[in-house]
Amino acid sequence: MLADRTRLHIALQKSGRLSDLSRDLLRDAGFRIQRSKNSLTARVENFPAELMFVRDDDIPTFVSDGVCEFGIVGQNVLEEFALGADEQRYEVLAELGFGGCSLKIAAPETLAYDGPKSLTGERIATSYPRIVRRYLAEQGIDAKIVKMNGAVELAPRLQIANFVCDLVSTGATLEANGLRPVETVLDSQAVLIRTTKMLDDTRSKLSAGLLTRVDGVLTTKESKYIMLNATGQSLQQITSLLPGAGAPTIVPLHGRPGQFAVHAVCQESVFWETLEQLKGAGASAILVVPIEKMMM
Ligand code: ATP
Ligand code: MG
Repeated sequence: MLADRTRLHIALQKSGRLSDLSRDLLRDAGFRIQRSKNSLTARVENFPAELMFVRDDDIPTFVSDGVCEFGIVGQNVLEEFALGADEQRYEVLAELGFGGCSLKIAAPETLAYDGPKSLTGERIATSYPRIVRRYLAEQGIDAKIVKMNGAVELAPRLQIANFVCDLVSTGATLEANGLRPVETVLDSQAVLIRTTKMLDDTRSKLSAGLLTRVDGVLTTKESKYIMLNATGQSLQQITSLLPGAGAPTIVPLHGRPGQFAVHAVCQESVFWETLEQLKGAGASAILVVPIEKMMM
């Protein structure tokens, strides 16, 4: 297939834990995904882009080779790929805040464990041999890695290995298999990657446009618009408490001398504690509202 050079190609996981979340992100960014006759690709209706649905393990390869200009993939898959590649031909543009999990070493509940040295001479089953090898090297531990492509948590029961190193989010799968986590090797979430291959003008402009929109979604997710009333004396303390706010708008309240309305965009999470602190500093009538779209 010769890639169409007038549009962007975005590699997404076809089916799995990241597929719906990746599509949701693109939808939130305003891309309307066309229903397609085949399940391997889909066009974006209102932007010159095409989605390619592939196995997540193939996404780093596609983006590195420039077959797809963009991809969404877990840091775990990307790191395993990077450790096996001779040069890095992609860049990580953004952490996407979904697909969170950790790569953990786990042991049968019945097995004694006393820190990484307990791994010495043991067998560790994993789908992430390169990451595990690096971890062992960092710890100065000599152990044998057994590569498995799936069902890693069965390895101890099948007596293939005493230890496993697998992705964990809630830990329920480990527990169901009589395993407990003993070490965290890597924390992971989904990231947006872009090829470092040179793009022609058309695609380079499109690429900047896509990035602006995705950035907009990521910033608005966290951002809130805060409105509150304050007295002149409390203004300084109150504005210093607003998390991640640039220059707030401060306007006098009509008919209430010495009283002001403060409006600000907060680009960090606003917690109840912050509101209590604001109230303590003299703020009243505090409103926190979500922001739907934002372009900085
Ligand atoms: P594919 O068929 O595309 O190769 P897969 O079976 O390798 O799919 P999934 O299980 O769908 O992959 O997981 C995709 C990604 O989701 C993982 O690589 C990881 O980044 C993330 N993830 C988040 N939570 C978990 C979890 N609890 N277990 C496994 N992966 C998780
Ligand atoms: Mg996979």
